[in-house]
Amino acid sequence: MVSRRKFIISSTVVGAGLVTGFKPDIKDVGFSINQQQNQPVVISTWQHGIEANEVAWEILLDNGRALDAVEQGVRVTEADPNITSVGYGGYPDRDGNVTLDACIMDENCNAGSVAFLKNIMHPISVARLVMEKTPHVMLVGEGALRFALANGFQKENLLTAQSKAAWEKWIKENNYTPYKPDEKNHDTIGMIALDKNGNLSGACTTSGLGFKMQGRIGDSPIIGAGLYVDNEVGAATATGLGEAIIKIVGSHLVVEQMRMGKSPTEACKVAVERLLKKVKGFSDIAGFIALNKQGEYGGYSTNFGFQYAVYSEGENKLINSEFAK
Ligand code: ASP
Repeated sequence: MVSRRKFIISSTVVGAGLVTGFKPDIKDVGFSINQQQNQPVVISTWQHGIEANEVAWEILLDNGRALDAVEQGVRVTEADPNITSVGYGGYPDRDGNVTLDACIMDENCNAGSVAFLKNIMHPISVARLVMEKTPHVMLVGEGALRFALANGFQKENLLTAQSKAAWEKWIKENNYTPYKPDEKNHDTIGMIALDKNGNLSGACTTSGLGFKMQGRIGDSPIIGAGLYVDNEVGAATATGLGEAIIKIVGSHLVVEQMRMGKSPTEACKVAVERLLKKVKGFSDIAGFIALNKQGEYGGYSTNFGFQYAVYSEGENKLINSEFAK
C-alpha cells in the first residue's frame, strides 16, 4: 500500500481569514506525491476557494473529470451573493451593470470563454458550452447572452441590495473615476485540478474590477492570461489587476516556466517578477497559482495578503502565498 504521508513542506497553512505574513524560503515549495498515489488535487484562489474546493473534491474523489470538478467548484462562488467579486452579488460597473467574465480549459487543449456577459448567474457553464458546442473560443456581450439563453440559461438580476448600496456609495464618493489602485474591489476565483486519471483542467470566473468602465474586460476570460492548461505540463491561473496580468500573458508564462523545469512556486515567481519589471507604476496586487502534472502545487503574489486554497490528500487548507514585497 502506498503511504499517505504528506510532504507539505512550506507554505503556511492558516485558519479562515488569518494572514500571518510568514514568508518561507522559495526553495521550500509545497508539494505532495499525489500523482504517484493517483490522488487528485484541487487548488483555487483566495479564501472563497475553500468552499469551492469542497464541491470539486467530491467530484474528483468519485473518479470525476477535472473539467467537471473545476466547473462545479467555481459555480459555488458564482452563486454566493456575499462574494462581491464573482457572479451573483459581484460589484457592478460604474453605470450599475453587473458584467461577468469567465473561461475554462480542459486536458485536450479545448477552451471556452465569455466576457461582458450580463444577467447570467453561471458564466463558467456558458464558457464550457462555448467550448463544447461552438466552433469558437470566445463569445462576448449580447452574443454570449443570446447563446446562453438559447441553451436554457435563465436571465436573472445579479445586482444584490448589498452591491447596489456599495455602488451608490461609490458613485457619491468617487466622481465616476473607474479605477483607483487602493480600492481593491476585485478577487477572482481561479481553480485548477488534477483528477485520478492524471488529467488537468482549469476554470476562472469573475465580475472583474468593481466600478470599472462599461465594457472593461480583464485577464480572467483571456486564455493564457487568466488561465492556461497544458496537460503535458501543468496548469496555472491568475488573480489581481487584470490589466497587468494581460500584459505579461501571465498564466501561459507560468505553464511555460514549469515546462522548462521550474517548480509551480518558482514558475509563479517568474511571472510576478516579470510583471513587476514590465508594468510600470504597478501598485495593486497580482497573484498566480500553479499545479503540475505530478500533483505539485504552489503560488506567488506581488504583495503580502494573497491566499489560496488547496484540497489534497483529504485535507482542505488555506495557504498564505509567498510574495515579492
Ligand atoms: N483579475 C481580475 C480582473 O482583473 C480581478 C481579480 O482577480 O482580482 O478582472
